[in-house]
Amino acid sequence: MALGGATLHIDLDAIVANWRAIGAAVRPATAGAVIKADAYGLGARPVSDALAAAGCRSFFVAMLCEALPLARSLSDQATIYVLNGLLPGEEAECAAAGVVPVLNSIDQLDRWADLARTQRRRLPAILQVDSGMARLGLSPDEVASLAASSKGLDGLDLHFVISHFACADEPTHPANAAQRDRFERLAAMFPNVPRCLDNSGGALASSARHFDLARAGLALYGGAPIAERPSPMRPVVRLAAPIIQLRRLRTGGGVGYGLTFTARRETLLATIPVGYADGWPRHLSGRGCAYIGPHRVPIAGRISMDSLTLDVTDVPSDLLGPGASVELIGAHQTIEDVARDAGTISYEILTRLGSRYARVYNGAQTVPACLE
Ligand SMILES: *Cc1c(COP(=O)(O)O)cnc(C)c1O
Repeated sequence: MALGGATLHIDLDAIVANWRAIGAAVRPATAGAVIKADAYGLGARPVSDALAAAGCRSFFVAMLCEALPLARSLSDQATIYVLNGLLPGEEAECAAAGVVPVLNSIDQLDRWADLARTQRRRLPAILQVDSGMARLGLSPDEVASLAASSKGLDGLDLHFVISHFACADEPTHPANAAQRDRFERLAAMFPNVPRCLDNSGGALASSARHFDLARAGLALYGGAPIAERPSPMRPVVRLAAPIIQLRRLRTGGGVGYGLTFTARRETLLATIPVGYADGWPRHLSGRGCAYIGPHRVPIAGRISMDSLTLDVTDVPSDLLGPGASVELIGAHQTIEDVARDAGTISYEILTRLGSRYARVYNGAQTVPACLE
């Protein structure tokens, strides 16, 4: 039971199918899975279990705190990489859990190599080089001096050299080719180390070099990796909320905080239990919509913390009533539609999906986070 809240349906089979499609797109490279931020809000454990069972062997999180809870169940069959690398003092715990850091700076590299020396063993790592995004990674000068030094990588077993695109969602942006070229030049200084560059957008860009491994996030979860283009992936998420209450508003009446919506006609309103505390952006106040059956129902007035109000005047009455279902994400409205109306990107809509939703994975209910 959702017990008063909305229900988030997550199709794990679609995630696996999307992972296979990305693998096919980058062949002969393979596809890894980015499961940071709780698998973009969809549940890192169920998502990684499903992908590992399907054969995925490389998983990426952003932070060590995300890796540790997954390490025990995943690390027998797959490797978990920490994209942000390690802050000072986190090295021993990371190594003990069998988790592999991305080394983004000389400082991170030195600390990981020190631990390898102390523990008298080789430690696995990824090396990130900055090919032009200027966020994380060694600068080209640092890469060159590291590659030239005889000791720089002592004690380290490099699984991959990686970098990250700044403009992968715009396939014709000239920065992509420039970054690809620079990455190839920098990675060549580490012969025989596998290379990994693509995120979802890079993986799905045609005529690109895909190197050895792709790191796909958004596309796994059904999102559109290329801006302004509909998603070619199988949809993964459906969000449905029950109507709590219906009420009539006379012409001229207002609704919600600030009374920002004014009825221009006799209006029928439905209130549903989804608010900004559930990740439905407050920027959708007076913008955006939901669907009841095939009927578009505009959001009326401001989004509250725990609810929002819809103008359902034009919906046939047999589809209305307490408990009747309203679709927020699904066949009629994609995460990209919601993002566009809210002035953001689908990544943000997904990663903010609320903890009060009941979650249904492949049709099987799990307990909402607020009842755990
Ligand atoms: C988040 C992230 C990804 C995944 O990006 P998508 O666009 O969601 O596929 C890949 N690599 C790095 C370094 C990231 O931070």
